[in-house]
Amino acid sequence: MIPVDPLQSESVNWRCVACPSVISPDIVTALISEATHRLSVTNKTKIEACKKFIQEFEPVLHGNHFLITDCKLAITQILDNSVSCLKDDDLALALKYCRELGKLISVLVPAENRCRGVLLFGLHAALAEIGRRKAIGGEIDQNDLRNNLLVSLKFLCFYTFNKPISMLNRYNLSTYR
Ligand SMILES: [Zn+2]
Repeated sequence: MIPVDPLQSESVNWRCVACPSVISPDIVTALISEATHRLSVTNKTKIEACKKFIQEFEPVLHGNHFLITDCKLAITQILDNSVSCLKDDDLALALKYCRELGKLISVLVPAENRCRGVLLFGLHAALAEIGRRKAIGGEIDQNDLRNNLLVSLKFLCFYTFNKPISMLNRYNLSTYR
């Protein structure tokens, strides 16, 4: 659904881009205000709470809507502090959002380096953790783990402001040289 006049989105009807359906702006406004409220009471440090919000509102809001994007960004931030506590599928989800949001900000705010840095930090943390788990499970050998960590390190290099703990501090990289 898009507004008939994008500059008057709160006062004109919204129409479907695939069929002739039309809805009033009141319905759209009510939906956005409900979603805004729900996000404001969502604990964005908990991945389950974030996933619940996205699952509930992604069917009615675009995947790039600012409320959905805000929640996806929160999930990537969880990688900073709790990466080792995440379940495998949550880790994969956070990694997917790091990549997805990276593409989005390249289009919307290409000069926003701080945001890019935060996403790349999350990306490196997720990749390093995935590599660590695969190595423990015997899914990859030392050579593959080394390559995985080097890819992770490449993303960390873009992170120019202070971050106290890198995921790579968990590894003795010299072991893999
Ligand atoms: Zn339709």
